Amino acid sequence: MKIAVVGTGYVGLVSGTCFAETGITVTCVDIDQKKIDGLNNGIIPIYEPGLENMVKNNVESGRLFFSTSLEESLVDCEAVFIAVGTPPGEDGSADLTYVLAVAEDIGKHMQDYMVIATKSTVPIKTAEKVRNKVAEALQKRKVDLEFDVASNPEFLKEGAAINDFLKPDRIIIGTDSERAEKLMRRLYKPFLLNGHPIIFMDITSAEMTKYAANSMLATKISFMNDIANLCEVVGADVNMVRKGIGSDTRIGNKFIYPGAGYGGSCFPKDVKALIRTGDEYNRSLEILKAVELVNENQKLVIPGKIKAHFNQQLKDKKIGIWGLSFKPQTDDMREAPSLKIIEELLKEGAVVRGYDPVAMDEARRILGDRIDFSNDKYEALIDADALVVVTEWPEFRVLNYKVLDRLMQEKVIFDGRNIYDSEEVREYGFAYYSIGKQPVMP
Ligand code: NAD
Repeated sequence: MKIAVVGTGYVGLVSGTCFAETGITVTCVDIDQKKIDGLNNGIIPIYEPGLENMVKNNVESGRLFFSTSLEESLVDCEAVFIAVGTPPGEDGSADLTYVLAVAEDIGKHMQDYMVIATKSTVPIKTAEKVRNKVAEALQKRKVDLEFDVASNPEFLKEGAAINDFLKPDRIIIGTDSERAEKLMRRLYKPFLLNGHPIIFMDITSAEMTKYAANSMLATKISFMNDIANLCEVVGADVNMVRKGIGSDTRIGNKFIYPGAGYGGSCFPKDVKALIRTGDEYNRSLEILKAVELVNENQKLVIPGKIKAHFNQQLKDKKIGIWGLSFKPQTDDMREAPSLKIIEELLKEGAVVRGYDPVAMDEARRILGDRIDFSNDKYEALIDADALVVVTEWPEFRVLNYKVLDRLMQEKVIFDGRNIYDSEEVREYGFAYYSIGKQPVMP
């Protein structure tokens, strides 16, 4: 069996590689020549644990190919997956330019029946637009080829993407064709051996499922951040409240950690896009509007605490930041809370020095020379007036107080992810600010 995956980013590269892992022949297509040249030379454009080895093995086994030519890649394919970006347009709606350009190209080049499945996160009714684009292109060619469209939203988490793809909680396929259903079942069978389901549904419901899932997760985070901020002023400890509510099986203990706000390439844009869809259909999604507002405010909580601690005088204060990516185990900095925090600190004249285990190149690309970059976590703290933890990478979890004591000018820690124990930090003579708890002073 042969397939093509168009768009070789986080989703396309992981999906294509994992499909190849099952014995299928896969071509990953991208318009970015540099990316494809790099991949053909063994350079993986993103950081994703386990990906490099898996790409290498499948390339060596002759099952995984990289190309900029969609035309060549579609030859003998039974299915093509669209996995290009759908960034937010100016009004918050998902920009379908890339998805529809690919659909048109598929129509221009396909030679036989195939299933055209959209993996990108796209608003409802996009499959119809894809169908129309392909049909128009075929009409222009004056060829009469059968094809089916399907919606196959992707749920992988960056940082755990390989595992999520190989052992998915569920696979969602929206289609109105039995032939497409049969083919998708065959393709995904190897990933379902752990008993998790493949759920077939109509196309609109599949498109909606992806947005509803991400919006629900974002809602949990914003809800918890709202509760955390209240905990702080009433004198409750949000960590205890979290444990207290998380033990209720109806609520569950996942995704209820308060923090510095959600970021990344999905939640912010998908929440915006669903709000926009609601408005379009005159069904204003009030909860999601609040979720977004709470999240924007949450990104200001840590800068607010820093400003208050230094009596609004941040000029020339040296602030060491640990963690720049939007979450651990990825180099993705899209909408990362660190960017907002850094922006606020720079506005006040602070000198920022950042460190991240894998996102340094990406951070340099985005921030240029506006901040200093350190080679390791301790270099970021030389003469620092404060340590700010923004992303909870494992290497930040246990503090070496002696080293911190020696390096830092002032002993104060702002913890945007609640990873330290207040009492322990205090015992070592540090002031400690976290989310949803009273600060502790030495
Ligand atoms: P990405 O930006 O990492 O990659 C997109 C790739 O598509 C880029 O390499 C780009 O060059 C390529 N591209 C653009 N136009 C093209 C064209 N005409 N032909 C070929 N390639 C083209 O994006 P991503 O993070 O992989 O996300 C892709 C989609 O999947 C988005 O809709 C996103 O919302 C969704 N999604 C992402 C994640 C995630 O964790 N990143 C998870 C689930 C779903």
